[in-house]
Order: sequence, then structure tokens, then C-alpha cells
Amino acid sequence: MQQLSADYCLPPFSNYKQLNQTGPRIIERAEGVFVFDNKGNRLLDGMAGLWCVNLGYGRDELVEAAAAQMRQLPYYNLFFQSTHPPAMALSQKLAELCPGDLNRAFFTGSGSECNDTVVRMARHYWTSKGHPDKQVIISRHNAYHGSTMAGASLGGMDFMHAQGGLPLPNIEHIDQPYWFGEGQGQDPHSFGLERAAQLEQKILELGEDKVAAFIAEPIQGAGGVIIPPDSYWPEIQRICDKYQILLVADEVICGFGRTGNWFASQTFNINPDLMCLAKGITSGYLPLGAVMVSDEVAQVLIDADTEFAHGFTYSGHPAACAVALKNIELLESEGHVARVGEQLAPYLAEQWAKLAEHPLVGEARSCGFVAALELVANKQTMGRFAKSRQAGVVCRDICIGNGIIMRACGDTMIISPPLVMTIEEIDLMLTLIHRSLDQTASALGVK
Ligand code: PMP
Repeated sequence: MQQLSADYCLPPFSNYKQLNQTGPRIIERAEGVFVFDNKGNRLLDGMAGLWCVNLGYGRDELVEAAAAQMRQLPYYNLFFQSTHPPAMALSQKLAELCPGDLNRAFFTGSGSECNDTVVRMARHYWTSKGHPDKQVIISRHNAYHGSTMAGASLGGMDFMHAQGGLPLPNIEHIDQPYWFGEGQGQDPHSFGLERAAQLEQKILELGEDKVAAFIAEPIQGAGGVIIPPDSYWPEIQRICDKYQILLVADEVICGFGRTGNWFASQTFNINPDLMCLAKGITSGYLPLGAVMVSDEVAQVLIDADTEFAHGFTYSGHPAACAVALKNIELLESEGHVARVGEQLAPYLAEQWAKLAEHPLVGEARSCGFVAALELVANKQTMGRFAKSRQAGVVCRDICIGNGIIMRACGDTMIISPPLVMTIEEIDLMLTLIHRSLDQTASALGVK
């Protein structure tokens, strides 16, 4: 299998030379919150795949929903005056679930496609409203919005921009609200306000008449589970309202219960004009994304009385929509979102906070069912390791050896587990993480 990978496959986000030397891990099956490799090792999946398997693995109901739909209508599209029942049922359900007046869905196949859609839709919206100069989308350094040309441009990862001549024109970045990494010495409240104020400065610098939208993940995921200070989001909302800039919440990770509410926009009291959904919408069982659109934005698109020339072959794929509907039905009927909010997240937060006592950990933070640990070389000064990613990669590999999947973002270790964990599984996860931190500390000579 490793040879086949080397000979025939170029996997995403990989250094091919290095990967071909070690060979990828071979994951063969999964059940509940565990995945199993070809050697029979059981790994607790602290990342729910790629932040998506919210209902956990092995849910036959989702498999059956896909199979039944594929027997009935395996494929049809929403182009050229056609529609089909699963896409319409899901649109209606999403309108009911999503906050505010986000009542219409533009379906895509992924989070990246959602963000490409946002760029085109926001610009088309302002042009249709008679403001063709409002083209600039403001995003943030160290954001992640996907890998397509627009998604990677909106993202604020320099190493991604370096490949492919990005960002695209008319995309600007401001600093992120990353208190541990960039705000120490300042109180978090004023740091949050300061980082939000950069949005206002950027709008004034560019001119209000040039700015179409501000896009952000309510909690930055791939950037390292960056949970903004409480002061941040209210100020961002105020600025977007004041200057009439569309607010786009990229809830690709945060949606579908991750923060203990259906959407993080509810957790942070944000009122977005556009909201991007993917991943947890089907618990990752099939690829699907949706841009949720406010009534006001939708009305302008309707009144434009011209074709919105955008869409994907798999926009609203029937089997994916059927799985999403079943996934939402199970999240609702089994009460997972409320359970995370009321029981699991408070328990995880309490246990997670204790990891801050570890000599290697500078900060332990969590919100709902995402959490991060900042690894530091010197706990007194909060000094980082000399080489970036030095500790993260060591810790990640030790975690795997101990049967727990954590992800390393630089020297920030993160988790985003399935929402269906039991308290016993949370305890097991914490035990394995603690053990891995001890072993990482000895490997790195931290006492
Ligand atoms: N937005 C966010 C916030 C994400 O975390 C991701 C993927 N991790 C994406 C967009 C891109 O989604 P996809 O990989 O489905 O294109």
C-alpha cells in the first residue's frame, strides 16, 4: 500500500520525498470514535477525521440514507431549471436550523468551493446593488479557508500563497486575534479590541466604497484553534454594520455542534450575511458544502434578474443531501448538540484546563469540542522552541504511538473530537494526551 502511494498517488498537503521514505499510515476501518490501522492498532480519533466526523464512525443510518437515495436517484443537478427532493428538503431544513435570516442555500461540494462561491457572490451582490467598486474581501493572516485559488487567497497562510502566485487581487489581510501567540503582555480584552480595530483601519485605508466583505472563521481551526477574546466578535460585528460590509462566517469547522451550539455564530452572537458550511453537515460521510445566504443578499440576487453564472456539477448532489438530512436528524433526535453544550464541553474544559499545569504547556484553551495546547520550551518566560514545529511534530508522533490522534499546528497541539464521545472516552483521551506530553517533554529535555 505504501509503495502504491509512492508510485501512483500525490496526497494533499504532503512533502512527497519525505512521505515516500516513511510511507503513509494505512487506515483500514473505523468504529465510533476509533480508527484502526492495517497493523491492528486502535487510534482514538481526536480530530474526527479532518474536523468532520461529528457523529462518529460506523453509523449505518447514514450509509442506508445514501444507498436508498442512490437507488432512487443517484445523480441529478440543480442547473438549468431542475431540482430534486433531497436538495429541497435539505435547503428547507438548513433555513430552519441556521440563525437569523440565513434562509437560502447555495450548494457546493466542499468548504473551499463555498469560499470561492462567497467571493463571486459578494462581488456580484454589490455590483447588482449598483456598487461595482465594492470588490475587496478582507480576511486575516493565518486564516484557513481552503485550497482552491480563492480559498487559499482568502486564507492567510504565507506558505500557501507562495505556491501559485497568490493571493488573487482585491483580497487583503489583517492580523488575527491570537492572544497567546501575539498578545502577551497585554490584557486579552484590549488585545481583542485592538485586533478588531484593524478591520476598521483597513476599511478606512481602502475606502468603504471599495470593500465588499469581511470573512473569518469564528474560531480559527487549522491556524491552531484560536479562540478570540470575548471583546473581539462584538466589535467586528459593530464595524461590519457601521460600514455596511458583508460579514461572512466560515463555519466549515464550527458548524453542526462543534462549539456546543448548532453554529458558532450563535456561540459568539454573530449575525452573518453569508455562512459557509461543509464537513459536519454530513459528518464527512459524503462531500457536501453550502453557503447560507441572508434574505437581504438573496433578494438583491433575485432582483438582479440576471443569471448568477456559478455552480458545480455536484452542487446539491442527491446522495450527499440525503446523508446530510439524516445526519441532522440524528444530531437532533439523539440530542448531541445540547449534550456537547451542557455536559461534554464543560467536562472537557475542566479536564483540559488541568493540562496547563504540565511543564511543556504554556496555555490550554477550549471552546465546545475544540481545544488547543501551546507547547513551550520555557514555562516561566513562555518562550517557544528555537525551531518552529520542533515540539509539535515530536508530540504528534508520540501521540500516534500512544494511540491518540492529535494534530500539530506548529507547536500548538489541537483536538476536535467526534461529538459522540462518552465521558470514559474523554478520560481515555486525556490520559493518552498526558502520557504523550510527558514523553514529549523527556524527548525534548524539558523538565
Ligand atoms: N474553511 C475552513 C474553516 C476549513 O477548516 C476548511 C478545511 N479544513 C475549509 C474551509 C476547506 O474545506 P475543504 O477542505 O472541504 O475544501
